[in-house]
Amino acid sequence: MGERQSMAWRKLRTSYGNALPLPCRRCGQLIMPWDRWELGHVVDVADGGTAAQGAWPEHSACNQRASRPRPHSTGLPPSRRW
Ligand SMILES: [Zn+2]
Repeated sequence: MGERQSMAWRKLRTSYGNALPLPCRRCGQLIMPWDRWELGHVVDVADGGTAAQGAWPEHSACNQRASRPRPHSTGLPPSRRW
């Protein structure tokens, strides 16, 4: 499965890029214009999310951390499923 990005999505990403700095959707820190960032769906694609339902920038690092399985030892108590 490849990541296919539509023209509309790319245009959306560009418009967000012009609006930086904006707070990252995941960590809340500002994304600066020189940072690596991705445009993430507000509703996960797995849940049927589309760009029309909203998108928001997030750091590339935060995006990758979210898609990776949670590390076992974080020094924090295991978070429960809500
Ligand atoms: Zn972030």
